[in-house]
Amino acid sequence: MMTKVFKFGGASVKDADHINQLKKILNSYSDVKLLVVISAIGKTTNALESVFRDIYDTDHDVSTLFNPIIKDHLAIAKNLGLDQESLKSELESMVNELEGKLDSENLRFKDLVYDQVVSMGELFSTLLITRFLQQERNDVSWLDVRKVFMTDQRFMDGKIQFAETQENINQIVVPMMKDTNICITQGFIAGTSQGLTTTLGREGSDYSAALFAYFLDVEELNIWKDVPGILTADPKRFENVEKIEKMSYKEAIEMTYFGAKVIHPKTIQPIQNKGIKLKVNSFKNPSQ
Ligand code: ASP
Ligand code: MG
Repeated sequence: MMTKVFKFGGASVKDADHINQLKKILNSYSDVKLLVVISAIGKTTNALESVFRDIYDTDHDVSTLFNPIIKDHLAIAKNLGLDQESLKSELESMVNELEGKLDSENLRFKDLVYDQVVSMGELFSTLLITRFLQQERNDVSWLDVRKVFMTDQRFMDGKIQFAETQENINQIVVPMMKDTNICITQGFIAGTSQGLTTTLGREGSDYSAALFAYFLDVEELNIWKDVPGILTADPKRFENVEKIEKMSYKEAIEMTYFGAKVIHPKTIQPIQNKGIKLKVNSFKNPSQ
């Protein structure tokens, strides 16, 4: 069976209705295997940046600072009909694991701490969505991308180690895709060989998805968005906006360079290297 790589951003998973729509889209692809890269829910990453600051600026302990974010996720879980208690303990154990990494030595390195904290958004969103999909299907798995995407030690802007990561893809992801039809994983985050979490830069989930497309050698990368493709201008600001049917990698790079916020600029290189097509699919009006 063919594998496709899908990416859904934070706006596409911001509440129960959107997550239901995501489920519908995934269910409509019954004849392919899906590697699905997902961002943190809505504005969670911004909220986590304040948690990060509050670790230094307040006396609260880390688990207390995480409580409002856990609560937000449980509220969505409730609207999706999920068992809140078991999800709560899974999210709390992720926070415990994080606290274990914030010893007094590591706390001295703010970039390191930032990555351990803000990465929780993608871990939470993907776990919630996986548990939701697993209620109805037994062919959905959760992948911790930190065990696969290896970077150097540069926190907040990790550089992917291509050889090590390709090896992990072959050892971990390829066999997983044989056993499962949908693999849900995190955008934006990665790991070091020392077991710490790194991030790839804000809005980096498109780049993560492009990397998966590259490493898995797929034909096409599908980024799901609330626009029906790449448009000539921002439809919120201009009338008579047209859809661009096709563009070259060069044009796409120039466009992202000039600030069109459709895709992250780092996305193009990995797919260009292998001639992988990039398709922007409409989240609201999906048609295959
Ligand atoms: N959640 C991360 C951010 O908001 C990554 C992403 O959305 O692509 O920056
Ligand atoms: Mg985001």
